[in-house]
Amino acid sequence: MTLPKFEYFAPQSLEEAQQLLLDKGEGAHLLAGGTDLMVKMNHGLLKPASVIALKHIKGLERITFDPENGLKIGATALLADVASHPDILEHYPAVAAAARETANVQIRNMGTVAGNICNAAPSADNAPSLLAMNAEVVIYGATGKRRLPLEQFFEGPGLNALGPGEILTAILVPVPGVGLGVSYQHISARGKVDISAVCVGVMVRMDQNICCETRIFLGAVGPVPMRAAKAEASVLGKELTEEVIESAGAAASGESQPITDVRSSADYRKKMVAVLTRRALTEARDRALNS
Ligand SMILES: Cc1cc2nc3c(=O)[nH]c(=O)nc-3n(C[C@H](O)[C@H](O)[C@H](O)COP(=O)(O)OP(=O)(O)OC[C@H]3O[C@@H](n4cnc5c(N)ncnc54)[C@H](O)[C@@H]3O)c2cc1C
Repeated sequence: MTLPKFEYFAPQSLEEAQQLLLDKGEGAHLLAGGTDLMVKMNHGLLKPASVIALKHIKGLERITFDPENGLKIGATALLADVASHPDILEHYPAVAAAARETANVQIRNMGTVAGNICNAAPSADNAPSLLAMNAEVVIYGATGKRRLPLEQFFEGPGLNALGPGEILTAILVPVPGVGLGVSYQHISARGKVDISAVCVGVMVRMDQNICCETRIFLGAVGPVPMRAAKAEASVLGKELTEEVIESAGAAASGESQPITDVRSSADYRKKMVAVLTRRALTEARDRALNS
């Protein structure tokens, strides 16, 4: 397999990158780590006339945390850096876990969390925990910057809410606050070398022993990472006993909409949604109670 011919651009600023995107039109694609884009080009699934690299734009690689504004993950921050960042490990362990569980060490040293999100695969490992934490994305376009809840970003397999000329510049994750616990769980057919057959992100906020807030997201069981509203309703206002957690797993399984494909059967996926939701709720509850 050989790569198709394309023009390569290495802009030094967001303005330059955005102008290039507009000038080059539909044939232009942004490049972060290239671990999705170049694979698609290698397989002839994409033939961009122009590739616009983001990694020369200073500041986009930054990861920052402060206790008032929360976490900001820049567009070219590597999966490996997110997985090992001390503030993320301390305050956002499920975000670190998702990055750490993505692919293998080589890919994590090239690929980015933002690329994982923009690629919009239903199985994207980094989506469920960020969605559970109510993350937002910052989007730079012709009219300046706008913020969008991550929940509104995914529009279908491979489709996102970015318009022509728009660039995702950062992912913002709110401050966790007291009594909050989050967990990320996933399973894939061939361990580390395969993408997830099912993935689950769960956030719970506990007031004493009662669950007063929750967000549960399922990946790879629908066209976009989906919110498990029935599972959420089944735990709200309750003590998270084994029985309650068991019924939440069953509710999530019931509302998931998996398909059968090369990675897994729909039936197996439904069963795994129940198992992973139970595990994630248990870990999120324990983290919340110890926070
Ligand atoms: C061997 C292998 C194993 C893998 N395993 C996993 C896995 O376990 N889990 C998983 O979820 N994924 C996996 N992947 C997929 C991939 O590595 C991840 O999705 C990765 O995070 C993509 O990041 P990137 O920076 O390489 O994105 P790129 O390939 O650079 O970009 C991906 C897409 O997003 C667009 N894009 C990138 N950045 C921006 C931006 N800032 N604004 C707008 N658009 C942008 C690009 O134009 C492209 O369409 C694997 C890939 C390989 C090759």
